Amino acid sequence: MHSLTKTALSFNGIGRRCVALNRFSEARIICRGLTCAAEHGEHENELYDVIISGGGMVGTAMACSLGLDPNLEGKKILLLEAGNKKVMDKVPDAYGTRVSSISPGSATLLSGVGAWDHIMNMRCKPYQKMQVWDACSDALITFDKENLQDELAYIVENNIIVAALTKQLENLSDQVRVQYKSKVVKYIWPKSHQVADAIPWVQVTLANGQTLQTKLLIGADGPNSMVRREAGIPTVKWNYDQSAVVAVLHLSEPTENNVAWQRFLPTGPIAMLPLSDTESSLVWSTSHRHAEELLQLDEESFVDSINTAFWSNENHSELVETAGSLFRTALSVLMPSAGSARQLPPSVAGIGPKSRVMFPLGMGHASEYIRHRVALIGDAAHRVHPLAGQGANLGFGDVACLTQLLSQAAFNGKDLGAMQHLLEYETVRQRHNLPMMAAIDLMKRLYSTNAAPMVVLRTFGLQATNTLPAMKVSMLSPL
Ligand SMILES: Cc1cc2nc3c(=O)[nH]c(=O)nc-3n(C[C@H](O)[C@H](O)[C@H](O)COP(=O)(O)OP(=O)(O)OC[C@H]3O[C@@H](n4cnc5c(N)ncnc54)[C@H](O)[C@@H]3O)c2cc1C
Repeated sequence: MHSLTKTALSFNGIGRRCVALNRFSEARIICRGLTCAAEHGEHENELYDVIISGGGMVGTAMACSLGLDPNLEGKKILLLEAGNKKVMDKVPDAYGTRVSSISPGSATLLSGVGAWDHIMNMRCKPYQKMQVWDACSDALITFDKENLQDELAYIVENNIIVAALTKQLENLSDQVRVQYKSKVVKYIWPKSHQVADAIPWVQVTLANGQTLQTKLLIGADGPNSMVRREAGIPTVKWNYDQSAVVAVLHLSEPTENNVAWQRFLPTGPIAMLPLSDTESSLVWSTSHRHAEELLQLDEESFVDSINTAFWSNENHSELVETAGSLFRTALSVLMPSAGSARQLPPSVAGIGPKSRVMFPLGMGHASEYIRHRVALIGDAAHRVHPLAGQGANLGFGDVACLTQLLSQAAFNGKDLGAMQHLLEYETVRQRHNLPMMAAIDLMKRLYSTNAAPMVVLRTFGLQATNTLPAMKVSMLSPL
């Protein structure tokens, strides 16, 4: 078992024992809630079946998914989002800087919640192939249509995903109430056993003083989750020595542009994801210092740096090339029809105005996804390096799993906040997410070096994997 998996699992037991509640602040907040009650009229102290805290891609998908479930009809569901409502009456001409590679499994989830058609009508680019290669050798791996599904994945702007889900929530206004500009500032947790006079539900206090109660709180409030922190859930996390520079790229000439490209440089991976015939999206993970330098460059030098990063052979070494070519020859003798030919990425001619932004990267995993009447989903539960384009996809997987278990619980007349089905959610999702997170972290480490033995090892690994279609299918995990 990978050490990340072990560490996270070992934290699990400790975490379950350290629920720290500050009684004094509980009492203070309750008083505050009571004094503000008159100000907030009908919704003050209202009891909900489910409150979702955080309306990013994952929380909004959760709200739609619960709102559409027939077994949850009549349940009181509320989505709280600190930011503004993200509507999109007209698709902007310029592409958004933040995009996600959406797996077919996530597309199915988004279709099930009625948002996929909106997304397709707005803007979405399917791609059929992905080529990943090593800057220190000729080793490459290709995921493509012939071996796999029709569409390998889709590149969608994050704003479009949220806007499509928001539009769908408008159609579900009878099932789901939504409050924007509603930042949660305090949670008060119930005891798992009955104590006289204790509140049996989770109490939520908003920045405007309003208090609400819920039988189940779903924390979808992102990587710095307040739900996770306030619930005292132990988290394994670290910052990577990298930031991601993202930008919209204008290609030198129109192409079919149905391939996603990623090259592993010793400083980190650089990826070019298709947006249209003439535009792509850049995700370049590199050292913080280099990322800052890239942001300062004039447009022409920045474009030169991107083209060099994709094309230059400056990191090749004779030793690695000889070893790699011998291994490739041996593989082609053993499996003559396997493998795939190298394709060349398009060259970049310019960037979208003001589209360069950088994000520090990190990894985090909540060793528990649940507590009594609480469940974490999305980045609140797990944060990964973007090299595999899996963060949001893992979150949509949480949404599908939690909806299914809550639906079943409602059908059986069970309390939605009870531990029994929440524990099942945790078990199912941790079994899925942890190996994926460990693999992504391992890949980040394996490729962050140009030491010859390591490069030879990964060259062999990449070439061997490239000849095994079944292995490649298993690497494209559904949700
Ligand atoms: C450079 C980069 C590239 C990526 N590429 C991909 C990719 O290709 N594919 C992929 O699947 N993933 C990708 N990811 C990961 C993906 O962006 C995240 O996993 C995803 O955005 C997480 O969504 P979320 O809804 O869980 O959290 P967030 O997007 O962080 O949303 C949390 C929401 O909660 C709200 N909130 C926070 N606190 C409170 C509070 N106290 N009260 C009320 N509301 C609150 C916030 O306003 C926010 O709207 C990438 C990430 C990066 C950095």
